[in-house]
Amino acid sequence: MTSTLTSDKVESFLEVVREQESPIRIYPEQTAFISKKLQFDWKEVIQGHFDGDEGHKNFVVDDCGSKESSFVFFGSQKWKLAKIHFHRRSEHLLESKLSKDGSFDAEIHFIHAPVKEHVETGDKMIEPSENLVLGTFVVESSAGAKSDELMSFFSACESGEKTVRLPPEIIKQVTKLEHFYFYRGSLTTKPYSENISWVVFESPLQLDKTVLDPICPTTQEARKGQPWNRRFVLRNFE
Ligand SMILES: [Zn+2]
Repeated sequence: MTSTLTSDKVESFLEVVREQESPIRIYPEQTAFISKKLQFDWKEVIQGHFDGDEGHKNFVVDDCGSKESSFVFFGSQKWKLAKIHFHRRSEHLLESKLSKDGSFDAEIHFIHAPVKEHVETGDKMIEPSENLVLGTFVVESSAGAKSDELMSFFSACESGEKTVRLPPEIIKQVTKLEHFYFYRGSLTTKPYSENISWVVFESPLQLDKTVLDPICPTTQEARKGQPWNRRFVLRNFE
């Protein structure tokens, strides 16, 4: 007797094995401390263009060779910045004084791909993941960053074609961040593959509300929080 694997069966099988999904709600008191660093080697100029369907638009970073590309060092590896996109509201939830229900106005995902190159970082931990995603929360505030470059960047989501620069204000705020939560998770869109190393920074970026307005129609929907199951969620600060 042969049995055929219908897509229904595959779907229900995946329902059973899914246990390391993202996003999650982070409860700081349930996380464990681990000494861990993330080192930025982002360049001052990060150029790219918006690509993708409505609701799944990504800022695709131009591939400009090993010298000019932007990287981070995490674990025993080097990772190259490949794509950026936005969620409004945030996908991750963080129990924090800064938020009533754990959610933030927006979340930016910086997707990094592993570089096959030996690097000495002092951290021996290998991340067996296809991507490293850095998540930053965003708070809209009247004291937040505002500039013509920020406005034209988020507006370019819509027009989609021309080459744009990631605004310096974003690069400046992100590369200063040090405290983060860290866990093994998944894509937050189909097929929800469980092959992502997630770093979610504790402090939100501060942007002016008018800056974020143009991104509304192009942002990806926020997926609801998924169970932790047997996972550890770590943090790199006491
Ligand atoms: Zn995302």
